[in-house]
Amino acid sequence: MEDIKELIIRLAAENALRYGKASPKAVLGKLIAARPDLRPKAKELISIVEEVVIGVNKMSMNSLKGLAPQRKAKKEEERIWPPLEGVEEGKVVTRVAPEPNGYPTLGHAKGLLVPFIYARLYKGKFLLRFEDTNPRVEKLEYYDAIREEFSKLLEAAERELGLSPGKWDEEIIESYHLPKMYELARKLIEQGDAYVCTCPAHIVRMKRKLGEPCEHRDQSVEKNLELWDKMLSGEFGEGEAHLRLKTDMKHPNITMRDPGIFRIVEALHPIHGDRFRVYPVYDFSVSIMDSLSGVTHAFRSKEFEPHVEVQLAILRKLGLREYSMIQFGRITIEGIPLSKRYIRPLVESRILDGWDDPRIPTLRGLFRRGILPEAIVRFFYELGPSKVDATVNMDIIAAINRKILDPKVHRYMFVPDPIRASIGGLITPAEAKVQIHPNLKKVRKITLNEPRVYIPQIDVKNLKVGDEIRLRGLATVKVRSISPDEISLTMSEDQRKKGVKIVQWAPLNRGVPVKILVPLTPYSYEMIGGYGEPALKELKVSDMIQLIRLGFARVDQRDPFTLIFSHK
Ligand SMILES: [Zn+2]
Repeated sequence: MEDIKELIIRLAAENALRYGKASPKAVLGKLIAARPDLRPKAKELISIVEEVVIGVNKMSMNSLKGLAPQRKAKKEEERIWPPLEGVEEGKVVTRVAPEPNGYPTLGHAKGLLVPFIYARLYKGKFLLRFEDTNPRVEKLEYYDAIREEFSKLLEAAERELGLSPGKWDEEIIESYHLPKMYELARKLIEQGDAYVCTCPAHIVRMKRKLGEPCEHRDQSVEKNLELWDKMLSGEFGEGEAHLRLKTDMKHPNITMRDPGIFRIVEALHPIHGDRFRVYPVYDFSVSIMDSLSGVTHAFRSKEFEPHVEVQLAILRKLGLREYSMIQFGRITIEGIPLSKRYIRPLVESRILDGWDDPRIPTLRGLFRRGILPEAIVRFFYELGPSKVDATVNMDIIAAINRKILDPKVHRYMFVPDPIRASIGGLITPAEAKVQIHPNLKKVRKITLNEPRVYIPQIDVKNLKVGDEIRLRGLATVKVRSISPDEISLTMSEDQRKKGVKIVQWAPLNRGVPVKILVPLTPYSYEMIGGYGEPALKELKVSDMIQLIRLGFARVDQRDPFTLIFSHK
């Protein structure tokens, strides 16, 4: 069934790419053409097709392209990962530059993987740089979380895509370079390219909008140096003075009108405490650090585009090496907010279980839900470095995850919403043999000490006396009688009868009580209770399994035995 859904997703994406929007009728037609064996099921399939088409029609071109891979493998790779211009193999240096102000989300995975993939495709160098010059929102735990999550993704990129080595080549912590940045600021002041402005913020904002200089613009170099030293020594409070780059107050790009480059932040830095109180703004630190650390191609998300001019102006005034700045589009997830601004209050008010709550798309949350780092890596590899913003449907990542898990994870029986069943004629102790995985020749043995099991209530609903079902790996049975809290079964005469519905079960006295949490919205879970087969007890936390007829899940807790549902 899941294979069919994947095929439908691909056909719908192809259809949408060709005609702008996918049509359920056309997709169903293509599906039947590709799989004539499904023709008898067309009626049941149409609702699935319709559901997929609705999802696909909301997606951006780029996500669609990721879903409808063309067959020409080589060319495809070049189209997804267009060559960088004017570069030599071995000479490319890229970086990821996260701010340690929260736990990384799926959105950060793109910012990590795009430069990493390019660095490895060109056998170049890849840097991890912490942009920690905004101390009010930064915490040490976030540095660690970023290292941990990024490591998992890069190691997965090496395993899944062969991009080696699957780690960063060097780690840089920006705040250690603050003294160097002060030195460069002083140089700008001495050159007459920067001045200290003590206008209140609202005046600065208004004058920049109007294109009017303030009284501080023409201060002497000596005066500016004196004020700058006062900023550093603590004679100004936060918001009372800032250093501005002298460019052009009538520049058509308002961002370019004497932008602030250093400001006072009176907050303790997670590494340096109160050692510093003057911090650079993003445009200053990013361009200086990229230039000084040898970055040849800086990838950043598109919203920084108006700032490129400011960054170039800073480099030129300081005579520092320039480099290519490449923009890429942002990722949003359909129906799930990615921003820390949204997630943080939910964590702080304990509506969420923490930053690793499986209901939110932090990398930690996704891993806890059972989404493999490999699936995330594969997804972004197929999406490419595109400049277009993309809306991602979690179903697509789930489909990739399933493809990776399906051939290897072991299968277990779990009975949701159970009802007791007795099996007349079954001699106990009896031994059932359940297949561990279709790809493996091995079976798991389950011993029954008494002829009683749990089976899913939902399977009993449609049964009537005389119907037959097969209890997986145990026996084919016939319904003798049904009461509200028990069903009475008896062994069938023909144990090899074909075409009998196969039902999962758990032994009555030894079934493991299981709680499954199905993440819905950031506020809610669906809870499914039931019994699983005894072998579940041998699993460890974070093991992945497939529950027969239900889907994939990750062991979250052993006592009480709790699973997080990943996807079908
Ligand atoms: Zn001023």
